[in-house]
Amino acid sequence: MPATASAVVDVRRKVESGQRITPADALTLWREASDTELRQMASLVRGRYHDPQSCTYMVMRIINYTNVCVAQCDYCAFYKLPGQEGGYVLSQEQVFAKIDELIAMGGDLVAFNGGFNPQLPLDYYCDLFRSIRDRYGDRIEFYALTIAEFMYLADHAKLSYAAAAERLKAAGVRWITGGGSEILTESFRRRHSKFKYTVTQYFEAQRAVIESGLRTSATMVIGFDETIEERIEHLERTRIFQDGIGDGNSGLGSFLCWTYKPYFTQLGGIEIATQEYLRHLALSRIYLDNIPRIRTSVLTQNERALEGLLYGADDFDLPLEDEVTQKAGATISLEFDKLLNVARGLGFRPSYRHVATGWDLPSQ
Ligand code: SF4
Repeated sequence: MPATASAVVDVRRKVESGQRITPADALTLWREASDTELRQMASLVRGRYHDPQSCTYMVMRIINYTNVCVAQCDYCAFYKLPGQEGGYVLSQEQVFAKIDELIAMGGDLVAFNGGFNPQLPLDYYCDLFRSIRDRYGDRIEFYALTIAEFMYLADHAKLSYAAAAERLKAAGVRWITGGGSEILTESFRRRHSKFKYTVTQYFEAQRAVIESGLRTSATMVIGFDETIEERIEHLERTRIFQDGIGDGNSGLGSFLCWTYKPYFTQLGGIEIATQEYLRHLALSRIYLDNIPRIRTSVLTQNERALEGLLYGADDFDLPLEDEVTQKAGATISLEFDKLLNVARGLGFRPSYRHVATGWDLPSQ
């Protein structure tokens, strides 16, 4: 047997016996394992958490409440600097109209994502979230902010992460997301988003959010100029963090990876192939053995994202809108039945997952 094939067999034995793989093992899988081998190993690990034919989905929309941002990430086609033409902040009425439209289309999850807008104080957010909870109760759930915006907000208000989390919680917030992580290495952050935060700060904020009793999630974006070693470092840091927090029911609720859209960005580049994304999903499922829910991105991969269910994913969004990725080239289909039929055609039984009716547990 050639040396490389035997290296894959060694890692495969580890996966089959439930042992953890190391960063070096992950590199071996990435470089040497076939697509079929990765699929099989990822499906095996998926099967420890989920029925092999089951999968879940949500109809949701991302509400981009402001595009004004001072972070100036070079991979972003969405932001306007303060005072620049085209900058906006949505009113509460505009936000309500978007939520009403989501409900009319059968959805019940909203995710807020905007920029680091220095003109918006913490009270703007608390008023907005309180008014949503008052108006809709538990009919919908909302992911209040990405962790990146949360950190900016706390710093801007001169509050600790813990104190800022308490303020949001008092305003009816239950969820933040891990959005804004892209690639969690200090080198990547220096190259592309030096005004955003360090990796150390990112995990400090995630910890404070969880310790305050709010829920949060893990995310990742691939396809910039990151190396495979950087991708594996991101997975390793995420796994270590989750180990220190607990399990998927008390720590990071899920892991969602999507792909960079390069159009109209300063960084530019070309999109990675879907097959590369699927291989990365499989690697993530195998590596992140302490996060039960692995999500595939219809927003950036359209119906081909559903092949991710064969590569270890168990859950996906059907999104109505996300200006951030749409500005950079993402296209959204509202033919939800067609998308669900793609999942069915691959042998899965999709069922709706209502975050609004309780905690986001894998058994829901
Ligand atoms: S990615 Fe987010 S933080 Fe970075 S410039 Fe765009 S809106 Fe701002």
